[in-house]
Amino acid sequence: MEINPFEVAKKQIDIVAKEMGLDKNTTEYLKRIERALIVSIPIIMDDGSLKIFEGYRVHHSTVRGPGKGGIRFAPNVNLDEVKALATWMTWKTSLLNLPLGGAKGGVRVDPRKLSKKELERLTRRYTAEIINIIGPDIDIPAPDVNTNAQVMAWIMDVYSMQKGRSVPGVVTGKPIEIGGSVGREPATGMGLYFVLQAICDKLDLNLKSLSVVIQGFGNVGGTIADLLYNHGCKIIAISDLTSGLYYEKGLDITKLLEWVKNGNYLKDYKNENYKKIVNEELLTLKCDILIPAAIENQITKENADKIDTKIVLEGANGPTTPEADDILFNKRIHVVPDILANSGGVTVSYFEYIQDIHSYFWNLDRINKELKRIILEAFEETYKISIERKIPLRTAAYIIAVSRIAKAIELRGIFP
Ligand code: NAD
Repeated sequence: MEINPFEVAKKQIDIVAKEMGLDKNTTEYLKRIERALIVSIPIIMDDGSLKIFEGYRVHHSTVRGPGKGGIRFAPNVNLDEVKALATWMTWKTSLLNLPLGGAKGGVRVDPRKLSKKELERLTRRYTAEIINIIGPDIDIPAPDVNTNAQVMAWIMDVYSMQKGRSVPGVVTGKPIEIGGSVGREPATGMGLYFVLQAICDKLDLNLKSLSVVIQGFGNVGGTIADLLYNHGCKIIAISDLTSGLYYEKGLDITKLLEWVKNGNYLKDYKNENYKKIVNEELLTLKCDILIPAAIENQITKENADKIDTKIVLEGANGPTTPEADDILFNKRIHVVPDILANSGGVTVSYFEYIQDIHSYFWNLDRINKELKRIILEAFEETYKISIERKIPLRTAAYIIAVSRIAKAIELRGIFP
């Protein structure tokens, strides 16, 4: 049965509300999104035919600042998925104590079937359709699944053309040449790395000696694979949409990244030692660290019992359902939740946003130092609460995030 991510997001709110004794009114308030825009995106295809795609932009909460969240282009994107992703962004920005809210966008399209020109037309028309609810003071999009710096550059161009001036602060994750930040592209993977080092220290594990399995080999999965591989870890399995590759002695990540960066898929990679496996098999491989870095609802009550790892480090948003969380907690598997583990991306996006506003750009050393400081502060706070209350890291992280939002709602009051 299809799992509805927004139902998962609402269930997570119920769990934390119960744990922290949150009042009923605030709980109900938090389960609602502020606004959603559904748009039709007509595109003239290269062969002259017309195709119409559906797109979304959702603001879950702007109570602590402008909306912030990525845009994904994928064939199964739907309104409830985008609502869930926007909700998770609210908790993430709050947990990291960034003065931002939660938003997300998406277009229901398989970008692999579009030419570059079609992709550009789609991006530009989508931007024009959502232009009234984005902007540096309103909601600032960023890359997510199947979108990248080039897509952000087109969005910035459309927005700037409408305003009659260059507005780099409308998106983050832009190319550096037009106001992007150094360190933004690998930031999510870098954040995962800092958090993983921190939890390994707490658990007395030597990161170098650990075996790692990673689902998803794009921006997030590829970057963390690269960082861990160069740190000396053994990456025994990776996957993309098309296939997984497994080698118990450890894959050559440098060669695999090269392969993927040249536009190839893992299903076509040739190495006689590497076994092709499907994503379901990959998730249940015995390893020390499992990093889901693809899409949501991958660890569910159907397979949680078979997960054989010490730490689940959530690179993706929403990869674990609440039922699976319970099973993993009972199995004493540490789940480092998405809103903490993958928050490096939004943190450096925030740095990019400030740099654009000030027209003053930082160097990589400063970016990584500030990222490490902010993400580790959130980690320490979360870890402390989880130990004190004997609760999963996710519930602890939610307590911090939800408390800040609840306080902001209380202080601002309900309009009118
Ligand atoms: P990406 O498009 O760069 O890579 C996605 C990877 O997952 C690809 O290897 C793709 O083949 C694979 N994949 C896609 N669908 C799959 C499926 N059904 N089964 C198995 N593999 C599949 O995207 P990304 O930016 O790396 O994002 C991955 C996840 O991380 C998403 O959940 C995203 O929301 C989350 N995330 C991304 C960022 C960021 O800065 N890019 C920040 C925080 C969280």
